[in-house]
Formats: sequence, C-alpha cells, structure tokens
Amino acid sequence: MIVVHKYGGSSLADLDKIKNIASHISKLSDAGEQIVVVASAMGKTTNKLIEMAKKISETPNIRELDSLMATGEQQTVALLSMALNELGKKSISLTGSQAGITTIGHHTKSRIKSVDPKIIISHLNRGKVVIVAGFQGMNQKGDITTLGRGGSDTSAVALAASLGARCEIYTDVDGIYSIDPRVYSDAKKIKYISYEEMMEMANLGAGIMETRAVELGKKYNVPIYVGESLRDHDGTLILNQDEIMEDKPITGITLNEDIFMVNIQHLPYSESLVAGIFNTLGKFELNIDMISQNITTAGTLDLSFSCFKREESLLKKAIEELKNKFEEISIEIKSDLIMISLVGIGMVSHSGVAAKVFNTLAENKIPFYHITTSEISISCTISKDHKKTATEMLAREFDL
Ligand code: ASP
Ligand code: MG
Repeated sequence: MIVVHKYGGSSLADLDKIKNIASHISKLSDAGEQIVVVASAMGKTTNKLIEMAKKISETPNIRELDSLMATGEQQTVALLSMALNELGKKSISLTGSQAGITTIGHHTKSRIKSVDPKIIISHLNRGKVVIVAGFQGMNQKGDITTLGRGGSDTSAVALAASLGARCEIYTDVDGIYSIDPRVYSDAKKIKYISYEEMMEMANLGAGIMETRAVELGKKYNVPIYVGESLRDHDGTLILNQDEIMEDKPITGITLNEDIFMVNIQHLPYSESLVAGIFNTLGKFELNIDMISQNITTAGTLDLSFSCFKREESLLKKAIEELKNKFEEISIEIKSDLIMISLVGIGMVSHSGVAAKVFNTLAENKIPFYHITTSEISISCTISKDHKKTATEMLAREFDL
C-alpha cells in the first residue's frame, strides 16, 4: 500500500532535520513501504519570502507572489531528495505541477481542481521515494498558484485521495488533544476523532489541522493520521464516525479569544431595519457569527453578534456607516469576552448535554452570555477572566 507522509516546516527547519527525516523515510522504504512525501517550506521560509516581496512592493503582483512563495517548498523537496540519494535511496522531487496537481481560483488562495497521479505512480513503480512540493499547483493558464497559508496539508490529503493511500501528517505536536494543553495541562490526547468533529474544532478555534484538508479527507474517505515526526504511531487518527467505538457526548473543548461581541440596542424593530443592518455588515465582508436577536415587549430591538478581532478595522468602518444610517442606534463593542465551545458528535445521541454545561458554569459562578449551538457543538461567551476555571470545570465534567 502507498502511504503519503506530510512534514511541516518545523520538522524540516534545518539541514540536520532534513537529514533525519530522510533517514527515517529510507528505513521505512527499505521495510517495503511505497512512500510519497509532501513537504512544506523550511521553518519560517514562507514568511520570509512574503516579507521580501513586501519590501519591493506594498501590494506585490499576486501571480509573482505565488511564483516566489512556491520556491520555499521547492527548496525543501530538492534537499530532501538529495539527502535520500546520499543514503543510497532512489528518490525524485517534483513540483506540484510535475506531480499532476491542477488548481483553480485566485492566486494565493487557489483550490485543487484535480490530481493526475500517473507520474507519481510511474516513479513509485520504479522503486523511488517521490517527494512533492506542498502548497502549490498549476492553474489552467499554466501559472504556478498556491493554496493559502498552511495549504500543504491539503496537498497531502488530495494526493492520498488520488493514490488510494493512507495520509500521515507529521508535525511538532504529538497528536490532537481534547483541549489545548497550554490552557489545560491535563488534557487527554484523542486517539480517534471524526472528520466532522475535527472540522468543527478547527472552525471554532483549534489550530492544528487545516479545515480544508479534513473536508477533503471526509469527501474521499482518506483516514488522516496526525502525529509527531520520527515518533511511533501514538498520535490521532481522523476518520469516519462509524469506525469509532468511543461513546462520549463531548470530544473536545475549543477556546476562541479572537472575538468581539457587538451589541446593538434601542432600535424600533422592523424586518427591513434588521436586514439593512446585516446588509451593511455584509458589504464590508465582515465575518460574523453568534447572531442573536431579542425583541422587547416595548417593541425595540436588541441585536448582538460576534466578529473577529482581527477584522477590527472593517468593523469600525461598518459601524460608522450604521451610525450614519440610523441616528438613534446605540452600539457597544465588548472585547473582554471569549467563546468557549464544546464539540462532540455524541451530543446527537446523548441528552442533557446543554444542561450539564450550564449547570457546571452556574455552580462555579461563571456567568455566560451569548449562546449558540450546532448539531455537534455548544458555544457560549464568558469573561476572559474565567477562561481557566471554566475550561477546567467543563473538562472534569466531561472527562476530557
Ligand atoms: N509553507 C506554507 C505556509 O507556511 C504552506 C504550509 O506550511 O503548509 O503557509
Ligand atoms: Mg508552514
């Protein structure tokens, strides 16, 4: 069976690390594995390339920026292949386009349209380790494009799908934890997690795996292993829910500290007014979430929603426009809240999960404000000051 290994930039940050990975791969290949390696740029290379471009131009031409960024991965794959050759192992490095990856969409954020693995297969059949530059492909015009930051995970899963291979993502963390261990040091490592839960956790703030890569894994049913480079297989496997025996209501907790809560008050309610407010927010392409609306008995409207702190300048512009349009509007921005989310496919079949969450918070005198739910998650906002206690208490309650 073919296996796709993906190594992130931190695992390939210097030449010694590249040599170590090469010797590891060489041993696995000797043991009979057919290996395709997808590599990221070394360490912080991509950032450095972008900085260089910005020194030449505030707004670099994006076609050229793509050509430049793609060189990061090309360095790594060539060096890794040389290191393998040095160990007497036959190998070949390929750019994304040489590997048959066709992309579609805008420069710097394109998507993989298709993968034609025939070149890779022919090299594998000749006994070579095939090393492919992640994060890049070629569009219909024949231009190099990149897939958006962190895109090598997607390259790896797409290649695995086209080769009918397993996909193993190697990084500097030893797996996926129920909670970020930097916040809760007793967090347990998750052995198996479903694609849906992993996507939900990534969307709600856990920054381990790229959401698009997990989505692709789900679509093509590619099991994705996530673990530490050069270590035994004790990481996390992302797969279909049907293949998971565990029966827990909650799988993980994520924290999102990058939010503002915006409260709009004292407007006389009308549908067109609410629609108008959201039109304005939409015009500025603000990413909003946790929308809640309350109409008071006096007929006035209270509306709140969350948005990303990193979009503050857009938010300010939108608010300015809202104030111009609706003179009596009062808008408050709260920056001292965070969103805590509990994720678990098990909540579909377990009842009373919400009650347990809110009881736990209430018993610990932790006020919670805005609440939103999806089929497999419950989120609420709490004060930043309660981050640690809330996380610990909920972790204990749900054995995370
Ligand atoms: N090197 C690219 C980045 O830093 C792609 C990746 O690491 O996945 O975003
Ligand atoms: Mg990277």
